[in-house]
Amino acid sequence: MNRLLLVLVVAVLIGLPLLPVTPEFWITHLNYIGLASLVVLGLVLLTGIGGLTSFGQAAFVGVGAYTTAWLTQAMGWSPWGALPVGLFITFLIALLIGAVTLRLSGHFLPLGTIAWSLSLYYLFGNLEFLGQHDGISGIVPLSFFGISLAGGRQIYYLIWACVLLSLLLTRNLLYSRPGRAIRALRSGGGMAESFGINMAWYKTVIFIYAALLACLSGWLYAHMQRAVSPSPFGLNYSIEYLFMAVVGGSGSVWGAVVGSSLILTLKDQIQNVLPKLIDTQQNFELIVFGILMVLVLQYARNGVWPLLQHAWVSAGGRAGPRRGDPPPPLADALPQRQRPELNSQVLHVQDIRKEFGGLVAVNDVSFALKAGEIMGLIGPNGAGKSTTFNLITGVLPATSGQVTFLGKRLDGMLARDIAKLGVGRTFQHVQLLPDMTVLENVALGAHLRRNAGVLSAALQVDRREEAQLLHEAAVQLERVGLGEYLYEHAGNLALGQQRILEIARALALDPVLLLLDEPAAGLRYREKQELAKVLSQLRDEGMSILLVEHDMDFVMNLTDHLVVMDFGTKIAEGTPQEIQQNPAVLEAYLGGVDDDAPADDASASHAPAAPGSTVSAGGAA
Ligand code: ADP
Ligand code: MG
Repeated sequence: MNRLLLVLVVAVLIGLPLLPVTPEFWITHLNYIGLASLVVLGLVLLTGIGGLTSFGQAAFVGVGAYTTAWLTQAMGWSPWGALPVGLFITFLIALLIGAVTLRLSGHFLPLGTIAWSLSLYYLFGNLEFLGQHDGISGIVPLSFFGISLAGGRQIYYLIWACVLLSLLLTRNLLYSRPGRAIRALRSGGGMAESFGINMAWYKTVIFIYAALLACLSGWLYAHMQRAVSPSPFGLNYSIEYLFMAVVGGSGSVWGAVVGSSLILTLKDQIQNVLPKLIDTQQNFELIVFGILMVLVLQYARNGVWPLLQHAWVSAGGRAGPRRGDPPPPLADALPQRQRPELNSQVLHVQDIRKEFGGLVAVNDVSFALKAGEIMGLIGPNGAGKSTTFNLITGVLPATSGQVTFLGKRLDGMLARDIAKLGVGRTFQHVQLLPDMTVLENVALGAHLRRNAGVLSAALQVDRREEAQLLHEAAVQLERVGLGEYLYEHAGNLALGQQRILEIARALALDPVLLLLDEPAAGLRYREKQELAKVLSQLRDEGMSILLVEHDMDFVMNLTDHLVVMDFGTKIAEGTPQEIQQNPAVLEAYLGGVDDDAPADDASASHAPAAPGSTVSAGGAA
């Protein structure tokens, strides 16, 4: 059904200029929509999906247009030779600007983009060899294997071929290994780094990608218009491109075409109608756009495309895989990491310390963990357990102390490099990508086990690797009991299931050491039993597991070894039996009120008491 619609759209696009009745004006209009769609597609990726706002895309259009204008007009180059030069210059500029501005966070990034876009704009207007404010005219038209593309109806085909091809490549990219990393940029920065994904790299990649699309649009524009001057590359136009992305729907590649069509058509109508209504030659369209923007942000925050998609699905169409679809096809297993020998030491934490200002969250804590062992880290809320996890996994730098993993020092390493060594984790506060499917979320965990890059993903030569990653994700989901939910959006799962999903994601990394922060919170009794079964099976396979958990039945039955923390300090260590009789532990639990415990966990006993044990105070104190 989706294919049919696509074929229909393409057929109409091909057919329109062939009909002599199609007015010339329509063709010109469609050409402009196509040119804008290219730029907006870059913004969809950069802003809508990556969360990086750029007010500078028009300047990159200018780089593409001016490069080809100058090379063809002054140097006598062929436009086809000028295109790669323009793309290369754009690449260099984007790389440079990206290196400087992408590190800025919050509103500093948009401000930074305004600054460099203005600089480029004034550069175009001031350089003598670019014709200053008059620009360059008399640019040669394009020709394609001897066919002249001088007319609007001819260049139309080239523009729309570029648009459709870019849409296709971008869509391919988004549903791939690098694409998942890009889609994680906006909401899952810290989490993604814990799975070995270099977020700064992917930010630079999409920044350059968007700049290249803008440059391509500029190249086409210069040869369609046959003249360039600085004005269409100024800040106003950059803002207009952003409008288009927001109005169209900045989360989907088709939003680019929808947004460009709507805004350009509207602009055209306003320019036609307004002068008749209120005798004026002024540009009122910006005011109308402003009002429109407020309305869109108020009533259709995700733009128009999701509304169209919703209507399409309501009418029985499909939009991506659904619950009940078959799992991804079988594929070769991914390579597996060498496992340490059973009972050999895997993790050694030595006098690790973390101070937050005056607060000592972790106070010189030491412990060790062997292969094939489950160790519990328990203690009242605020004891420093999650902070200890963050120190081991490199999410936080330690104030002092050492962490050794399989003979390598982890302290001082980046989270993503620690992940590479085989440390997988879950988060106390679930960190998922709610709009991505359960399957894709877990495949993100397997990111490091394959290396398909942006280019091979866009050209889809990564399909074998991609199949392996998806298959692995499905296997892990099946293992933890979420096999029915592969195509559900992760945000639709119950909180307990989201925690289980995080375990599957950590397993997809092929870890040697698994750190689970309150995995059983929010689970029902049966689900806890299932989880305990999975974890003890993993232990039997030689996995080392470090577990923070408040449910004492769960902890006492599952762990081999416990470390108890209170106010950042280790107060006891031993087997579950020993811990249950340790007076210091009982004091900590009886003395401290565990008021921060998750509400859904309230029924669980919070004291280190095994079923039938004489100790039964604690959380209820
Ligand atoms: P637990 O996981 O055992 O409940 P945490 O490790 O989350 O405890 O917290 C230990 C202590 O450190 C708490 O007092 C907490 O408020 C403090 N803390 C944790 N993270 C930070 C932070 N990023 N900045 C300042 N204080 C923090
Ligand atoms: Mg915690």
